[in-house]
Amino acid sequence: VFQNVAQAPEDPILGVTVAFNKDPSPLKLNLGVGAYRTEEGKPLVLNVVRRAEQLLVNDLYRKKEYLPITGLSDFNKLSAKLILGSESPAILENRLATAQCLSGTGSLRVGAEFLTKHYHQRTIYIPVPTWGNHPKIFMMAGLSVKTYRYYDPTTHGLNFKGLLEDLSAAPNGAIVLLHACAHNPTGVDPTQDQWEHIRQLIRSKNLLPFFDSAYQGFASGSLDTDAQSVRMFVADGGDCLVAQSYAKNMGLYGERVGALTIVCKTTDVARKVESQMKLVIRPMYSNPPIHGASIVTTILKDRNMFYEWKLELKAMADRIISMRRQLYDAVSARGTPGTWNHIIKQIGMFTFTGLNSKQVSFMTSEYHIYLTSDGRISMAGLSSDKVPHLADAIHAAVTS
Ligand code: PMP
Repeated sequence: VFQNVAQAPEDPILGVTVAFNKDPSPLKLNLGVGAYRTEEGKPLVLNVVRRAEQLLVNDLYRKKEYLPITGLSDFNKLSAKLILGSESPAILENRLATAQCLSGTGSLRVGAEFLTKHYHQRTIYIPVPTWGNHPKIFMMAGLSVKTYRYYDPTTHGLNFKGLLEDLSAAPNGAIVLLHACAHNPTGVDPTQDQWEHIRQLIRSKNLLPFFDSAYQGFASGSLDTDAQSVRMFVADGGDCLVAQSYAKNMGLYGERVGALTIVCKTTDVARKVESQMKLVIRPMYSNPPIHGASIVTTILKDRNMFYEWKLELKAMADRIISMRRQLYDAVSARGTPGTWNHIIKQIGMFTFTGLNSKQVSFMTSEYHIYLTSDGRISMAGLSSDKVPHLADAIHAAVTS
């Protein structure tokens, strides 16, 4: 009965790893998928995560019962506090609804499903470019996806004028997807002043901000600094949605743990919103898994473990920042044509190199370096010993 099913293409990001795995070359380097690697090129399980897991294993009273539809209640409270800040007016006034969801992707999807059912405007504006899964998540949930200008390839920076023009032209009430920090794939974030402009514009047109926070703490090394954009919007008392992921900042990629928070204007509205979130979630997956959320909760509620996590998170962020410097120095030393200071100016996990798809194919076929065709490099996958090889490849791709 399925003979007419067409072969689907590989996912543009995860497909890079599929191709990488097939390459027998010892030189091969995977800079495609955004997952942290150590200097030795190994995946990292944080010490604090191992400690939390030990505590959970040793807890003889620990059950494997179903969680409520919206997940672990402590996890939800602590997650909201982490992104909004403990003094957040939304928390103090108890006018938010949080649900533990399946990492960032699941949180975005639940948010989108909720909006399709309960929000009058079905149009969402996403930046160009953005994480490749965004348009699909929102489309599959029934939203109509439009774009706003974000990146300027000539400056390798923000197209602030284009962004403001496009959001000004958006219909009243439209939803706007914003990357809370460390914009993927460009590594370009608005400055504080620019965020303030964006906030004023969004509020003046009654647009609805939907934050995607997949890299809190990963960009600057500080959890508070990386949450500032979100907190600025929550401080003005308006509505907003936030999707959080613990994949990168706790290294819990495969645990699929994240949260959706909807900030409302009153407690009454927030309780109704929460009741409807449950109706959205129940037919999708009934309730979320318990293990990842228990790890996060154990860490967030213990002062010492929270402190230890912050140190480990900062070490990951610092290693990425140091990779930027080393790559920039290596490319500069080779005299590679073009300007390359965006390698050190951009932040977060990725460098948007400006290399085109032909140059990327060349780097893959000649140097066994794997990255997405838009020229995005995961700095978290790079290590000091691989920098010369990568710089050679970039130089050859640009000059050949
Ligand atoms: N948003 C952005 C911008 C991302 O880069 C990612 C991960 N690549 C996610 C959301 C979601 O990832 P996950 O579902 O693994 O938390």
